Amino acid sequence: MSEWDAASVQDGARSFLEESWDPDLPLAEWRDRLVASGWAVPTWPRDRLGLAVPDSLAGLVAAEFSRVGAVGAATGAGMSLAAPTLLAHASEEVAGRFLRRIVTGADKWCQLFSEPGSGSDLAGLTTRAERDGDEWVVNGQKVWTTGARSAAKAMLLARTDWDAPKHRGITYFVLPMDQPGVDVRPLRQMNGYASFNEVFLTDARIPAGDVVGEIGGGWAVALTTLAHERTLGASRLFPVPPAGSGRTAREAAEEAAQYAQTYVWYPQRAGRPDLVLSHLAESNRAGDAVLRQRAIDVEIRQRVAFWNVARARDTRAAGRQPGPEGSLAKLTGTDLARRASAVHAAVAGPSAVVTGSDSALAGLVAEIVASVPAGSIAGGTDEIQRNILGERALGLPREPSVDSDVPFRDVRRNLPKS
Ligand SMILES: Cc1cc2nc3c(=O)[nH]c(=O)nc-3n(C[C@H](O)[C@H](O)[C@H](O)COP(=O)(O)OP(=O)(O)OC[C@H]3O[C@@H](n4cnc5c(N)ncnc54)[C@H](O)[C@@H]3O)c2cc1C
Repeated sequence: MSEWDAASVQDGARSFLEESWDPDLPLAEWRDRLVASGWAVPTWPRDRLGLAVPDSLAGLVAAEFSRVGAVGAATGAGMSLAAPTLLAHASEEVAGRFLRRIVTGADKWCQLFSEPGSGSDLAGLTTRAERDGDEWVVNGQKVWTTGARSAAKAMLLARTDWDAPKHRGITYFVLPMDQPGVDVRPLRQMNGYASFNEVFLTDARIPAGDVVGEIGGGWAVALTTLAHERTLGASRLFPVPPAGSGRTAREAAEEAAQYAQTYVWYPQRAGRPDLVLSHLAESNRAGDAVLRQRAIDVEIRQRVAFWNVARARDTRAAGRQPGPEGSLAKLTGTDLARRASAVHAAVAGPSAVVTGSDSALAGLVAEIVASVPAGSIAGGTDEIQRNILGERALGLPREPSVDSDVPFRDVRRNLPKS
């Protein structure tokens, strides 16, 4: 039974803001004050910076903040992916070392999971971590790491036991990115942006205690991060700038704008279904019966996708761990993105592949066409989402595996054996 009800949450948030919100504070000072009060992350446990407010009442706190234009906790991959993982798996000591700087926005995070030889088959990763006195020494290569250039910390998966089966020899670390052993190289994408990177790890160092969960137990920890990533939807990764005009809001807007640079093309990656009807209506193809039908089909699916995302969000709000509805929401979203992109391209005709201000929607259609494929890959491909739904939601037999029970050292793979 919670100590909170709707009235006490609303009163608590309101009186904190009346006493403490000052729109002219430097952002860092305001966030320190906010974190100290517990109202930055009210739904987190009391021993983890929060107030143990039930998830179902979190909206009331957000409403109080927006009523007075107060700036909230930082957003981004640290809050959306690292924080829930640390809350679920890290010891009090480890969580205590990292959570505060995530909430204040002092540390940005990235996710060092995928490797050239292991994406869908993530448990086949070969980056190794070896204990050396008070530190772990990490060697290997990661790839497709979004936001690695601005991140201070990384969620890192590395193999610590080559004699255990592949899912059991992995450990989840917190890697400090700013060190000589971490070499980040941007990758240019086909839409022209370079939001993800290759990351080369050469004798990179991690303090011995910066392990999330058990040594060798990193797979279960990684599943938590991945489950949150699926239910997230790309939009939640980039912060919405606050509305106010004081110093705090101004600095928060600058922070948001800087962070959002990595994600500027993410709305296009979602196919811009919101623009399909207006694009058609304003074009010279508005009378085309087939195009009209395809456009309204996108509109209907957009509304269905909205309800799927809402369902996934409500699951979290009800305090349950994200489940298969995350895979469903992600699949629905990528299907919608592809359909919306196809309608945009059909309406635009040949200019769909031309960039520049005099092309379709001032180059936006070309960006949509080149960005949409990413959604079906990032955070687990469509095929992998279908496997998850088949196995975990529908109870179908597991996909046959030939390498899950043998020591990883003996697994055949396309990289040199260690
Ligand atoms: C925009 C974007 C951002 C990303 N950001 C990050 C990041 O920050 N950090 C990070 O670690 N990674 C990131 N990734 C990487 C992403 O997680 C991987 O690309 C993804 O998991 C797929 O792995 P892969 O590219 O190696 O493809 P592969 O695993 O090689 O897959 C190739 C094809 O085979 C299919 N396939 C593979 N296995 C199966 C199977 N068992 N059943 C059916 N089909 C299968 C796949 O569906 C796919 O079509 C990002 C990717 C994108 C596009």
